[in-house]
Amino acid sequence: MRRFRWMSVCAVTVVLSATPLAQNPPKPSAAADPRLDRLKTEAAAAVGGMSVFTQQMVDSIFSFGELGFQEIETNRYLIDILKKNGFTVQEGIAGIPTAFMATWGSGKPVIALGSDIDGIPQASQKPGVAYHDPMIEGAPGHGEGHNSGQAVNITAALAVKKIMERDKIPGTLRIWPGTAEELVGTKAYFVREGFFKDVDVALFTHVDSDLNVSWGERAGTGLVSVQYSFRGETAHAAAAPWRGRSAVDAVELMDVGWNFRREHLPLEQRSHYVITDGGDQPNVVPRTASVWYYFRQTTYPKIKELWETGDQIAKGAAMMAGVELLPTRVLGSAWPGHFNKTVAEVTYENIKKVGLPQWSEADQTLAKALQKELGSREEGLAMKVRPLAGPVAENRGGGSDDIGDISWNVPTVTLRFPSNIPGLPGHNWANAISMATPIAHKGATAGAKVQAMTVLDLLLTPSYITQAWDYFRTVQTKDTKYEPLIRPQDKPAIELNKATMEKYRPEMKKYYYDPSRYKTYLEQLGITYPTVKK
Ligand SMILES: [Zn+2]
Repeated sequence: MRRFRWMSVCAVTVVLSATPLAQNPPKPSAAADPRLDRLKTEAAAAVGGMSVFTQQMVDSIFSFGELGFQEIETNRYLIDILKKNGFTVQEGIAGIPTAFMATWGSGKPVIALGSDIDGIPQASQKPGVAYHDPMIEGAPGHGEGHNSGQAVNITAALAVKKIMERDKIPGTLRIWPGTAEELVGTKAYFVREGFFKDVDVALFTHVDSDLNVSWGERAGTGLVSVQYSFRGETAHAAAAPWRGRSAVDAVELMDVGWNFRREHLPLEQRSHYVITDGGDQPNVVPRTASVWYYFRQTTYPKIKELWETGDQIAKGAAMMAGVELLPTRVLGSAWPGHFNKTVAEVTYENIKKVGLPQWSEADQTLAKALQKELGSREEGLAMKVRPLAGPVAENRGGGSDDIGDISWNVPTVTLRFPSNIPGLPGHNWANAISMATPIAHKGATAGAKVQAMTVLDLLLTPSYITQAWDYFRTVQTKDTKYEPLIRPQDKPAIELNKATMEKYRPEMKKYYYDPSRYKTYLEQLGITYPTVKK
């Protein structure tokens, strides 16, 4: 089966070749808790009744539109909701000001619900409008849809918490943000600082155009994100150029070297760079220059090998330019993801029960108009749940998500929920269009129902947790052991995106969603839904 879909970081198009499996739901080893079916039905109904709460979270975070490591408003907003609802919140964890760990309940099992929160540079876009129409030219926005996942988890957790309190069901719920996921900048640090040590199962969730889950090795890559900085010497670029040494020369030579080498790299690798310091002005020979690389591969040893190649080319470039290569800086990292079979199967049974949302004609009109605008197939929104996908037959590379690091430390799955439109490029204004519309709201509610039901399954069926760890220990990590890609000296790159957010935040503030005055963000912006080209 070949299927084009979009995914997180680097999300361009990813080819997912999945192996269809026998659809046997997992069986608890003892008799199932007699309350389970009734409580799951109750939780799903409670989530349905919280749709306004969910919508307000989706719309609010959309309106903040913050970039990685600068999710200040988003964080304050989420922490406030969690505290109001009885969670204890540890703020600024792992040395990251916009990260937190919220906890409610006590005892085993410990279920950790996570989802990313950051936006995409230059993705500002009016929601509900089926063509490029930025709210603020050049500003960031939710061009990946990370404004919706926390709403899924928090709605689900609150619905389940009520039941746990009433029926005295033991267990601990954790809620945490995938801070700076677009920089794959934090999850390895959460692991390093021990935040997943006592977790039994991690239920991650991510926006998609479909409602699905998978297990095993996914189509995609892990990566290391490295900044190479060079130091030369300034001189008058016309009067005495022979006295200068250009650090920019080293950057350009490194990039040329890498692009020649690229022909001889394995086909599944992905690598790309941006020049973050390209000198000051042409008449001054540049003393400093930096280039920032992403090295992506499908396994840990292959990522390390690609990184080593990058280091060699950087050294060669420095020698050619007669400049110094400074100590490299790791700005982010991600292990290739591997998801748990048992937890995926349990989740999939709930996906089948919940099914895809009922899309309105307006939802479909928006989706088809955008697909037409982009030259994609005009298929509209997803209508059918597809089979549970297992390990990829052949991993041809693709995007990365640092949930990979957590997935190698504790049984993990990523629930994908249908808040977006099929056939989009990813990391783009187009991916923001649905994200504060009824499509996103209904998709998040569907995701929250599945998440709530899965949490109850895990709370009331201890054998699922045993089976999940059995798969984790005897299959997943039998031959592969987790070693962090971050080095002991590496620290979270919390200064990234600071200048960009400082530039745009004052203007963006004018458009923050005010749920006390407007039912929806579309209403606040005065946008007719859907707005399509005639
Ligand atoms: Zn993502």
